[in-house]
Amino acid sequence: MSLMDTLKRWFGGQGAAHSATPQQGRDRPEPTAPTSSAAAATTGEAATMNDIKIHPAVDGGLRAGSDSFNGGTLHCRCVDNPVEVTVKAQAAHNHVCGCTKCWKPEGSLFSMVAVVPRDSLSVTANEDKLEVVDTSAAIQRHACKQCGVHMFGRIENTDHPFHGLDFIHTELSDDTGWAAPEFAAFVSSIIESGANPDNMDKVRGRLKELGLEPYDCLSPPLMDTIAIHTAKAKGVL
Ligand SMILES: [Zn+2]
Ligand SMILES: [Zn+2]
Repeated sequence: MSLMDTLKRWFGGQGAAHSATPQQGRDRPEPTAPTSSAAAATTGEAATMNDIKIHPAVDGGLRAGSDSFNGGTLHCRCVDNPVEVTVKAQAAHNHVCGCTKCWKPEGSLFSMVAVVPRDSLSVTANEDKLEVVDTSAAIQRHACKQCGVHMFGRIENTDHPFHGLDFIHTELSDDTGWAAPEFAAFVSSIIESGANPDNMDKVRGRLKELGLEPYDCLSPPLMDTIAIHTAKAKGVL
């Protein structure tokens, strides 16, 4: 299996069969009268680089994480009885992601997603409100049935290169000190969610300006991790 096939199988990124669901996909807004700069970035109207809204947590600049930070609690967006997830670890490989599967806040081109050891994560309130968005996906994304927010993504397949890691959105936590995003993954995939292809230079320019190197797959260290896993499975390493 090639590296690209592996990527498609495990992450669904870059040209793989993405299927939008109501929670994750966003309908392309009508091209008339965009109501915000974020809308301009996703419609036929050309945007300037300053119009590009990547994600609310990075649009104002990155906030550095704390070396002494050891985790916190995440909450869904429900006012009553929110789902609470407790993580007893700092997050790693935090990044913004353009794929169509990760949960994004409204009007955002990208999600922001990081990993933590699965042993460090537990659901500490209102677990009954969680359901898996797509049980056929390699990453089982546990979402709140009421507000739609994805609380964590878990890999149950022990052959997966990232088995043992859970995916979380640190913006769901009020705690400060979470590791800052480091790069942008699956940038080209935002087009699959309706972003205007003509704005891609500006999107990549804005990401670079923010210090988030844009990649159309994952970052080189993560791609190497997957390739090493694949090579070992094939017996060539
Ligand atoms: Zn909720
Ligand atoms: Zn993603």
